Amino acid sequence: MEVMYNCWHGCHKKSEGCAHCYVYRRDASIGKDSSIVYKTTNFDLPVKKDRKGNYKYPSGTSFMMCFSSDFFIEEADPWRKDVLSFIRERKDCSFYCLTKRPERIKACMEDLDLYPNLTIACTMENQRRFDERAPIYLSLPLNHKEVMIEPMLGKVDLSSHIHLIDRVVVGGESGEEARVLNFDWVKDVREQCKKAQVSFGFHQTGARIIVDGKLYRIPRNRQHSQARKAFKDQY
Ligand code: SF4
Repeated sequence: MEVMYNCWHGCHKKSEGCAHCYVYRRDASIGKDSSIVYKTTNFDLPVKKDRKGNYKYPSGTSFMMCFSSDFFIEEADPWRKDVLSFIRERKDCSFYCLTKRPERIKACMEDLDLYPNLTIACTMENQRRFDERAPIYLSLPLNHKEVMIEPMLGKVDLSSHIHLIDRVVVGGESGEEARVLNFDWVKDVREQCKKAQVSFGFHQTGARIIVDGKLYRIPRNRQHSQARKAFKDQY
């Protein structure tokens, strides 16, 4: 069972990939300020219990964390230790989060070995952010190293660090103002992964994609399924 677990909400734009952040877009549509970071009512979701004293979410649950914030945002520093204790308590479940702030991971987590059930993936949306974040992120003693190139904003050469990566996931941008994804960039990353025997995934096409020089608009409900169909051997 996969469960969204947003322990806090709100964020600050960090780099080019944040330009059309869906958290900001969604909040703006209801007049909410996304830059205010607050603890949600679901803060203790993984350890919530029912009347009989059993965990509400059973063993084996996958908690997808912090999809309306960044787990390593500064404002959450006083709250993070509680969430880390929930992750240690629920060793029978897995946790996944994405960050654009790999430079904060070490200072925010005392001992990364205590979290074999937590995957921290890092977003590197273009060559500039790959060159900046990959050396920091990939030097950490993480059990699984996943590079997320989404929204992919240009061609990315992974060669300097590809030997340290376990998995690469690429994807386009959704929304009205989505920047264009060129399918040639996706194929190029896939080739690099194939050569280095690194796992590869094409997560979503985004709303606008160029294939063989032609621009296509992909409706939201087909962006994931179209990407899945693009390569037979990606997962
Ligand atoms: S880091 Fe993620 S959640 Fe935060 S502003 Fe950027 S895209 Fe949005």
